[in-house]
Amino acid sequence: MKIDLEKLTRPNIWRLTPYSCARDEYKGKEARVFLDANENPFNGPFNRYPDPLQRDVKMRLSQIKGVKPEQIFLGNGSDEAIDLVYRVFCRPGIDNVVAIAPTYGMYKVCADINDVEYRPVALNEDFSLDAERLLAACDSNTKAVWLCTPNNPVGNCLQGEEIKKVIDGFPGIVVIDEAYGDFAKTIPFRNQLDKYPNILVLNTMSKAWGSAAIRLGMAFANEPIIELMNRVKYPYNVNLLTQRQALEVMADLGKVNDWLRMILCEREKMLPAFAELPICKKIYPTDANFFLAQVTDANGIYKYLIDCGIVVRNRNSVQLCEGCLRITIGSPQENNELLKALRQYK
Ligand SMILES: *Cc1c(COP(=O)(O)O)cnc(C)c1O
Repeated sequence: MKIDLEKLTRPNIWRLTPYSCARDEYKGKEARVFLDANENPFNGPFNRYPDPLQRDVKMRLSQIKGVKPEQIFLGNGSDEAIDLVYRVFCRPGIDNVVAIAPTYGMYKVCADINDVEYRPVALNEDFSLDAERLLAACDSNTKAVWLCTPNNPVGNCLQGEEIKKVIDGFPGIVVIDEAYGDFAKTIPFRNQLDKYPNILVLNTMSKAWGSAAIRLGMAFANEPIIELMNRVKYPYNVNLLTQRQALEVMADLGKVNDWLRMILCEREKMLPAFAELPICKKIYPTDANFFLAQVTDANGIYKYLIDCGIVVRNRNSVQLCEGCLRITIGSPQENNELLKALRQYK
């Protein structure tokens, strides 16, 4: 749906004159002498402030992800992009957001931190999306809707048709978190920005790209939305080490694809093996690098595994996930250790 971005944005952000750092004012690369940022002339290259807009990283990402560099926001993990959605669009104490439930916990934590009402709308019993029910929870103060596909902690993709109904029916920002998109076969929404002016798509280097430690998250959206996020972010929000390491990972995508193939192959082996275990009651279908399993005694098995030195995620207390553990697909060795331990559970 077309959006009125001015009406959607917090007035103070719409009017904001952002901090202009030295490296913003001087954008060229030809200068030889840098005396503009009060840096120490020694200890190169770490003496210099990094590129505030991460141009080299975005250039390379643009080729890989098939979006324009101006349509990319980079943050200190996706978590920064999630927080910025609130800080840019939601007036504390007045506005609200609507989200599917269950889903990734950070959407609610950031809402609470920013004093923004969070309206969870339960997915269907099979964790599929009901667009109409989601839209019914929106009102004139709803600024964003949170969708996650494949969804965490379940692993299933939401149906494309229902997502489109939300995008077409909601006059605000529709966030589509595709952190696990690399593991699924669906068409990425980031490649449909021309068709959908109101979507904001999240990707991350933390999952398929094996780089959770460097904290690099991405948001893809049309340029006016990206421009607002760049205004509000900390000037040097992505440090030099992260930018360098990101370029290094992207220089060898063959390796990333090998990891992906191995993880998907392990998933194919793991699901039926887990389903055979006496403790397993049900496994939910997954398109991600993890699966949700309903087990005979989630709390007991969780504690038993800890004693075996194995950590999984206990989702027993999450609505619609009662009795469930969320299990990441690990290396063949790790997966076998888990299966072996669970075969011995009494
Ligand atoms: C892991 C995960 C992320 C990644 O967050 P980062 O801050 O980029 O590490 C984002 N969204 C979901 C749903 C996730 O599960």
